Amino acid sequence: MIFCVECGKDTDKTVDGACVECFIKDKPLAKLPHHVDLQVCTNCEEFSLNKAWVEKEAADAVEEAALAKLSVIKEARVLSVGTRITRQDQKTYKVELEADLAIRDTEVRAEASTLVRLKNTVCKRCSRQLGNYYEAILQIRSDGALEDSLRDEVVRRVRNEVEGQSKTDRRLFITSVSEVTGGIDIKLSSIALGKNISRDLADRYGAETKESFSLVGQAADGSETHRVTFLVRLPEHRVGDAVTFDGKLYKLTYVSKSGAKLMALQGFKTIFVPRADMVRVRVFKKRAEMGTATVVFSKDGEAEILHPVTYETIIVVTPKGEEIGETVRFVDVEGEILYFP
Ligand SMILES: [Zn+2]
Ligand SMILES: [Zn+2]
Repeated sequence: MIFCVECGKDTDKTVDGACVECFIKDKPLAKLPHHVDLQVCTNCEEFSLNKAWVEKEAADAVEEAALAKLSVIKEARVLSVGTRITRQDQKTYKVELEADLAIRDTEVRAEASTLVRLKNTVCKRCSRQLGNYYEAILQIRSDGALEDSLRDEVVRRVRNEVEGQSKTDRRLFITSVSEVTGGIDIKLSSIALGKNISRDLADRYGAETKESFSLVGQAADGSETHRVTFLVRLPEHRVGDAVTFDGKLYKLTYVSKSGAKLMALQGFKTIFVPRADMVRVRVFKKRAEMGTATVVFSKDGEAEILHPVTYETIIVVTPKGEEIGETVRFVDVEGEILYFP
């Protein structure tokens, strides 16, 4: 048995020779500073906590900011903390907390309070975005005319991609999207992002890409700022067009990063063209420019249609099992009319 040096009481747990009650008497066990400043971005409304910008409810951010500044005497172990948050004005919250502590296995309760003050600022991402910062330009161009629908599809694809990637990396954003003669320019906050996206577009559309660097500045510390332009040249052919490949006519039915699928207009067999050979795929007739002919009669494998020029009835071969409507698309190959699937 040990005696407390302060009160003389018998005890088996002492701190610095005193019993726990005497040890904690008149001693602040938990401390909070008078106030804690919490940075909030006025643009995206995210909070700066633990050196990162995060999206949070204000009350949660306030609590976290206060708890981060909580200190307890070294002899104590924090068991649990409860907080009460009251808003004092637009920018100030009072945080009162009660902490259950263990000192030499004796539970004691400590209280502390602080004012959390919201400080308006602009986070780095927003300041860059608002300042039109960019490191990469995606130049989307097309060998043929860039149709509105495809342009919109590409922009949507880029937006989705950036949104997905920015969830794990806040530095990634689109600075601007602008229509220019012959296509669109998309400015991006990061070179790596530009590279990823140009690769994705190349794979998706069988596009050619080209990168060019430019030096835009040199900082006082000697570090250089680069910009990279990624030219993404979409091929003229689109899925659905009539194309030629090594002298034969096909319908382009599918494009992926490994290559394209082509369906022959004679015999309707599908072939696969690897990516490297796709430069030999040429547009014969864009789908939008194709004529239609009226169907007089059809049965499985053939259709009787009105010749688009002479209006005589002619027979065209159609794929087995294909439903034929009241009109069909066709291509004219030096006077010969071929059904277009
Ligand atoms: Zn004592
Ligand atoms: Zn922000």
